[in-house]
Amino acid sequence: LTNGHHHHASSINIPSIKFTKLFINGQFVDSLSGKEFETIDPRTEEVIAKISEGRKEDIDVAVKAARLAFDNGPWPRMPATERAKIMMKWADIIEQNIEELAALDTIDAGKLYNWCKVVDIPGVASTIRYYAGAADKIHGEVLKPSRELHAYTLMEPIGVVGHIIPWNFPSTMFAAKVAPALAAGCTMILKPAEQTPLSALFYAHLAKQAGIPDGVLNVVPGFGPTAGAAISSHMDIDKVSFTGSTDVGREVMQAAARSNLKPVSLELGGKSPLVIFDDADVDKAAELALLGILFNKGEICVASSRVFVQEGIYDEFEKKLVEKAKSWLVGDPFDPKSQQGPQVDKKQFEKILSYIEHGKREGATLLTGGKRVGNKGYYIEPTIFSNVKEDMLIVQDEIFGPVMSLKKFKTIEEGIESANNTKYGLAAGIVTKNLDIANTVSRSIRAGIVWINCYFAFGNDIPYGGYKMSGFGRDFGLEALHMYLQVKSVVTPIYNSPW
Ligand code: ADP
Repeated sequence: LTNGHHHHASSINIPSIKFTKLFINGQFVDSLSGKEFETIDPRTEEVIAKISEGRKEDIDVAVKAARLAFDNGPWPRMPATERAKIMMKWADIIEQNIEELAALDTIDAGKLYNWCKVVDIPGVASTIRYYAGAADKIHGEVLKPSRELHAYTLMEPIGVVGHIIPWNFPSTMFAAKVAPALAAGCTMILKPAEQTPLSALFYAHLAKQAGIPDGVLNVVPGFGPTAGAAISSHMDIDKVSFTGSTDVGREVMQAAARSNLKPVSLELGGKSPLVIFDDADVDKAAELALLGILFNKGEICVASSRVFVQEGIYDEFEKKLVEKAKSWLVGDPFDPKSQQGPQVDKKQFEKILSYIEHGKREGATLLTGGKRVGNKGYYIEPTIFSNVKEDMLIVQDEIFGPVMSLKKFKTIEEGIESANNTKYGLAAGIVTKNLDIANTVSRSIRAGIVWINCYFAFGNDIPYGGYKMSGFGRDFGLEALHMYLQVKSVVTPIYNSPW
């Protein structure tokens, strides 16, 4: 089986779809309009299920439930250790359902089944546990050790949170948003991406089983301009956490400003550089670069879509990279041999192919790939362009697919300059054994995370987010917990001071 040949069927049981309605106030309910939308399997281009379509009026109902749960419900008031206990139980139940959840993300998003089973879904449980462990360690400070005033800070939950998430990591994104907000004592509405609503609804069902009170976690599938915009412009949502494209992030922030000035956090696009220096192990560097762009079919905002290689090893690197790309296996994501599944939907598939055409027209050299794989499903060949100029569209725009731009550089300064020649600043990678180069370059790149001799090294405790137009705010780490807290200062005079 090689690239160019995608294989079929496998022995994995595709689960029947149990949850297709809106999850509001602890119940699965139809949308008020009665409308539904289809979610498509990108392997087959066929409909998986019809999902209730949430719109503004459904968001209103969900916000009322979340508001009530915040203002009067037990969740923000119970001891943090109790919240933690319920979250831990939820994590356990999720672990008992790993295979089904993994299959849901695979049919909904075209993600590799084995990867979901081993990484994404267990990762959800571990993220929930990480924040459950932090819940009872949230505390303020005592200020002003003076004779006149006693002052201290309280860290209070920010209130009702709206989460809007994308389709590329339906489970990871769900956990990254929901877990810290729950630990902080918030209540919330989450809108999954319209392409991938299935796993979020399943997590909601499991949350109820674990004992998360009604109204605390509401999941409302729907489209961006309707359900999404209803969240960002809602007068009774206290904070919005958004992950998605830079264009939509801008709209979310504007809507938040125009409505009730709710704070937003935005995790947006990227065009991340991987800078490889002359002293690198060429073989390993080529593998890293390939994984950097092909992991999750390039549908990852930190994809290493711009690769810069120093001139001493450039030719050898290019040769190895192309060889490896040609033997990369594109095919059914349920097949354990597959390394790359289909792009998430027709729109993304066509967008990527049109960027590839644009790259050819702009005069970049197509080293390998460039075409669809097979004639059913949204599969695209690993695609590498060389001889790119940095002002080309394929080098500037986020393509969000398996398309790499490769460029040669001479000096360290030139490498840094190229790495920073983007409006984005989400991530970057460096490959070198030279400590001075590693230190200099990692400090010179304007990005929220820099990987040295690795790529995609994530962790619950590693904050993740953007510089520049990649947004602001951080997912993961204790940084993320603080996005769902606000500080209250309490001040009181000290009378009858003995001094
Ligand atoms: P992508 O390009 O990765 O699909 P989007 O930014 O379009 O990313 O989508 C990310 C999330 O934002 C999805 O849940 C989508 O429904 C939502 N969304 C799209 N448009 C809007 C909007 N105008 N307001 C709020 N949310 C939106």
